[in-house]
Amino acid sequence: MPRPSPLGTSCPECERLEAEFLDARTRLQHLRRLRRLTSIEEEALVDRVAMAIARAKEHASEHSKRDASPRESERGAGRARESREKEIAAG
Ligand SMILES: [Zn+2]
Repeated sequence: MPRPSPLGTSCPECERLEAEFLDARTRLQHLRRLRRLTSIEEEALVDRVAMAIARAKEHASEHSKRDASPRESERGAGRARESREKEIAAG
């Protein structure tokens, strides 16, 4: 069932990317509960979540580019935000 995205648009790709992110995060949380993960395993899972967030943001920026004027400065800030995304991903 479709529901409004934070952008207020109904986009299948947004839905797909959000599902991917939720799936990756759920997997990480589930495996954490299930057993003690090695740091390598945990890092790989956190990476996966962070990548999903990054892809969703990248895609969302395509929307805003279409809707408003492009903000190239956002691109440079992307790298710095990656570590913050990992923090979010790590929960
Ligand atoms: Zn979209």
